[in-house]
Amino acid sequence: MARRRTLPFKACRRCKSLVPKEATRCPVCGSTDLSENWEGAIIVLSVERSKLAKSLGFEKPGKYALRVR
Ligand SMILES: [Zn+2]
Repeated sequence: MARRRTLPFKACRRCKSLVPKEATRCPVCGSTDLSENWEGAIIVLSVERSKLAKSLGFEKPGKYALRVR
């Protein structure tokens, strides 16, 4: 069975935040460069405690895409 992606998000190309699909502007950085073509999601609860978040450059808690095309 094929799995369909049903997550209602787009990803910001500038900061990689996941934003609602109906959004036209990233609420985090203000960019309008949003992509529906993204892969992998990471939820950052605490940047201080997450080495992965730090290494990926995420500075605030939130939902992020790992790869944005
Ligand atoms: Zn952004």
